[in-house]
Amino acid sequence: MSYEHHVLNPATEELVATVPATSPKEVDAAVARAVAAQRTWSALAPADRARTLRRFAVQVDEHLEELAQLEVTEAGHTIGNARWEAGNARDLLDYAAGGVERLSGRQIPVPGGLNVTLLEPLGVVGVIAPWNFPMPIAAWGTAPALAAGNAVLLKPAETTPLTALRLAALGLEAGLPEGLFQVLPGAGDATGAALVEHPDVAKIVFTGSTRVGKHIMARCADRVKRVTLELGGKSPNIVFADADIEAAAAATPMSFLDNSGQDCCARTRVLVQRSAYDRFMELLAPAIERVVVGDPADEKTQMGPLISKVQLERVRSYVTDDLETVRGTAPEGPGFWFPPTLVTGVDPAAPVAADEVFGPVAVVLPFEDEADAIRLANATEYGLSGSIWTRDSGRAIRVSQAVRAGNLSVNSHASVRYWTPFGGYKQSGLGRELGPDALTAFTETKNVFISTEGSAL
Ligand code: NAD
Repeated sequence: MSYEHHVLNPATEELVATVPATSPKEVDAAVARAVAAQRTWSALAPADRARTLRRFAVQVDEHLEELAQLEVTEAGHTIGNARWEAGNARDLLDYAAGGVERLSGRQIPVPGGLNVTLLEPLGVVGVIAPWNFPMPIAAWGTAPALAAGNAVLLKPAETTPLTALRLAALGLEAGLPEGLFQVLPGAGDATGAALVEHPDVAKIVFTGSTRVGKHIMARCADRVKRVTLELGGKSPNIVFADADIEAAAAATPMSFLDNSGQDCCARTRVLVQRSAYDRFMELLAPAIERVVVGDPADEKTQMGPLISKVQLERVRSYVTDDLETVRGTAPEGPGFWFPPTLVTGVDPAAPVAADEVFGPVAVVLPFEDEADAIRLANATEYGLSGSIWTRDSGRAIRVSQAVRAGNLSVNSHASVRYWTPFGGYKQSGLGRELGPDALTAFTETKNVFISTEGSAL
């Protein structure tokens, strides 16, 4: 039986495209093509592989506006964000290309011979991506995996396959061998599951929900298949009374509203020291009301719609009528719109304060002192990101050391740069992506001892 996915514009609910799903049988054929292409690719001289990836980056750059417009249409991202996302895919390819000729093993001193380690490609890598950042997350797995000599099969989310398909076409135009980078649209529990189960897929790089990540990890365990997991988050934004309160309040709205809150790093728990709470809220409430929500194609828009009706219903279910809220505005009519929302006066254990809502919703919780802030920040199963606002550098260092999360920022909300490592503590993930070691995650280490003493043991 064959399936199709209907791709809708989340701002208008209009049909954008119909994309056929890849059946498990077609996954088998794609893996066979990838196995053959990987042999050709890994046999190329490193400089030739690097040059091809650089050409791929140039292709992405030359089609940046087209890719960005596609992202606006299929994912409802603001045009400013979408351009950044296409640029991020380009930069990742360039950065990974620079690693091809630097992917060296080690020589370790041993008696009676020479000992070297080789970093060999894994073979075929499956990248399973979510819908919230379709282009960057596709590139985070794909670019370093290709650079390390692997083939990549990318399964995009059901709702957002279009930019992935376009990227693969650009890769072919850049000269990647046929079959080396293939995009396999389809349902998670059919196409995705077929990739996870396939014996010739050596590693799965999964980005998505913690629930599905745990399932995939268990399935990979059966074959001791390598796995990297980038999962959910409920990140704290800790504001101390000694911070520049004006700056902290001004930066808070977009720290959880960017991409309509559909961001694994969204700072959705705003923890504010009680002595500065009233002043902070006085500044924050009008800033939330001022956020421009509307047509994502308009350059002035700060926040677009949610991805789908399902996501809209999920977000609505968390913001019940009994909650105290500060709300911004959102368009009426077609589209999956939800206004920027701050929730106050809730218990830290309430579902809206504890679960990943994945929408434009944050809770504000007061704390007493540094120890209380750390306790609250760590009172979650997640550990992806977080921000610390203070003018006391000693406190900034102490709190950075005490918060159990993979990506922290002080007096800033920046958490993702392609040249610094990214990933989660606790149930936010396993392994790291990006940064100087990104290629190594797509290799096996082989140790070789060469005796200098004839046939001696
Ligand atoms: P999801 O878990 O529902 O789906 C993610 C991908 O997995 C999709 O492509 C889906 O089709 C596929 N999938 C679903 N079931 C599968 C199965 N049984 N086998 C194989 N593949 C399967 O997540 P989502 O709703 O698309 O994305 C939102 C989630 O992603 C949020 O929890 C968010 O925090 C997380 N996320 C994490 C990061 C990070 O880097 N840590 C980045 C972005 C998003």
